[in-house]
Amino acid sequence: MPTTTIETDVILIGCGVMSATLGVMLKELDPKLKIHIIERLDEVAGESSDGWNNAGTGHAALCELNYTPENADGSIDISKALQVDEEFELSKQFWAWLARQGRIDPARFIHSVPHMSFVEGKDNQDFLRKRHAAMNDHPLFHGMEFTTDREQIGAWAPLLMKERTDNGVYAATRSLLGTDVNFGGLTRMLFADLDTLPDTDIHLGHEVRDIDRMDNGRWRVEVKDLKSGDKTAYQARFVFIGAGGGALPLLEKSNIPEAAGYGGFPVSGQWLRCLNADIIRQHHAKVYGKAKSGSPPMSVPHLDSRTIGTEQALLFGPFAGFSTKFLKHGSWLDLPSSLEWDNIMPMVQAGWKNMDLTKYLIEQVRLTPEERLDELKEFMPTAQLKDWELAVAGQRVQVIKKDPEEGGVLEFGTELVAAADGSLAALLGASPGASTAVSIMLKLVLKCFPERATEWHETLKRMVPSFGRKLAEDAALIKEVRTKSHMALGLLVPV
Ligand SMILES: Cc1cc2nc3c(=O)[nH]c(=O)nc-3n(C[C@H](O)[C@H](O)[C@H](O)COP(=O)(O)OP(=O)(O)OC[C@H]3O[C@@H](n4cnc5c(N)ncnc54)[C@H](O)[C@@H]3O)c2cc1C
Repeated sequence: MPTTTIETDVILIGCGVMSATLGVMLKELDPKLKIHIIERLDEVAGESSDGWNNAGTGHAALCELNYTPENADGSIDISKALQVDEEFELSKQFWAWLARQGRIDPARFIHSVPHMSFVEGKDNQDFLRKRHAAMNDHPLFHGMEFTTDREQIGAWAPLLMKERTDNGVYAATRSLLGTDVNFGGLTRMLFADLDTLPDTDIHLGHEVRDIDRMDNGRWRVEVKDLKSGDKTAYQARFVFIGAGGGALPLLEKSNIPEAAGYGGFPVSGQWLRCLNADIIRQHHAKVYGKAKSGSPPMSVPHLDSRTIGTEQALLFGPFAGFSTKFLKHGSWLDLPSSLEWDNIMPMVQAGWKNMDLTKYLIEQVRLTPEERLDELKEFMPTAQLKDWELAVAGQRVQVIKKDPEEGGVLEFGTELVAAADGSLAALLGASPGASTAVSIMLKLVLKCFPERATEWHETLKRMVPSFGRKLAEDAALIKEVRTKSHMALGLLVPV
């Protein structure tokens, strides 16, 4: 039994980019709020948000082909791309607002890096041409370049074309608006900022063990100090479960009816990480290809320039894997323990309907180093095994949802699940992930604190100037906010 009880306004579970973003927002909206933040690891950003655990792509749909599917009539649907791009613009505005006040240093987490798509074959070339035509017309994507010229592709990204001796047909697009983001660096700066604010306590090495609704409607959150073994009970008005892969089990403990039927399917990731500084120097782009048949969207291969701390890096992957852990530092029992009577059927049905995914994962797990190298060679023909090492990436937990018509459905996006009275919310899923932290947390604020929406409106607009307006429908607004954000963040300013 807990020996101490602490009354607070807000509990944020997990020290990843999501809790960091929400914490900073809430303290700006109501500086008097008492916030306790609980993290099981001894460090912040030690799971998916760490720079080496994710790809650091500022997902803006500039290069990721899965956001622009081809319709049955051959036209390209760019609606998802518009949404993803707009969401990233919100993140940049929020970070720019913090950077202007000196609360975060943009040079330590965000850099301009061209985003490229690269495909092989006539059909893919046609697809990319149509995609470029559909996107370049739109002010959100204006300035995107397209080429089928091998020399031009080689000029944009030399490693793609060096010693490519085949007669293959290739195509590429490039946008100079792309970014590489060290979400770990950002998260650490956000928590350092939060740590300076009054009534904000960060408890590292503390794990949330239970969440219960009390008779008065508040939440009782039981926390264990992993070093001393001491237990504390926090009583809070609002709880955010920002526990990444660990969010599903905690959501299940809350017993809110809105959580019924959710399940999780873990997909682990690995990269090939370049060890040769000379090769790293030759590549300055994030180059995304096309997903292989049956592979999930987050497994689209990419050759990726990174800046992590002061280090320049080059990653290729991700290669998927299967693990029953929900967190990189989790337990093998995570998946079996998450099974409950109301999510077993949706999980079995989702598994049955996604046999191609299962087959893909089995194939990925069985890949030999040489087979991984072959995949890399599709991007970089000169690649040699000696220049690359295999590194373990973060763990993702894909959402499985109960669907009245289809039974269980496997989702690849993120899902905000909130109690009807807004007193508790959890974030499930992984993609587009950290890039959309600001837009997700804005949604959460409106959903969970509707009674304060009018009072908070002006502050929200100060943090995110386009808040409440639709960027995709306003070319002048796009230019204005993007120019200001890019200037504040030290990014290439769009012409
Ligand atoms: C391989 C890979 C590639 C990715 N690439 C990209 C990309 O290119 N661009 C992009 O935008 N996003 C990407 N993502 C997604 C992105 O990393 C995540 O969406 C984001 O980091 C999630 O942040 P979070 O705060 O929700 O979770 P996390 O960063 O995982 O943080 C959750 C925290 O909660 C803690 N926790 C868990 N359970 C408990 C508990 N019971 N008590 C206390 N603490 C607990 C964990 O220790 C952890 O520190 C990628 C993810 C992966 C795995």
